[in-house]
Amino acid sequence: MKAKVLTPRSKFLEIECVKCKERIIVFDKASTLIKCENCGEEIVIPSGGHAYIIGKVLRVLD
Ligand SMILES: [Zn+2]
Repeated sequence: MKAKVLTPRSKFLEIECVKCKERIIVFDKASTLIKCENCGEEIVIPSGGHAYIIGKVLRVLD
């Protein structure tokens, strides 16, 4: 399923680190690199508008 990118509002996403399974809440338009607090693995990389998510998205928080 493709995620819609035209949503007017920004969201928070619950991401699971692919390395250590730590769960992290991130902003879907993060403008800075976000790393796992537990193991330091990169979770979100900023890419202009929407952030590029490396971890597994568990759910979207409104
Ligand atoms: Zn981790």
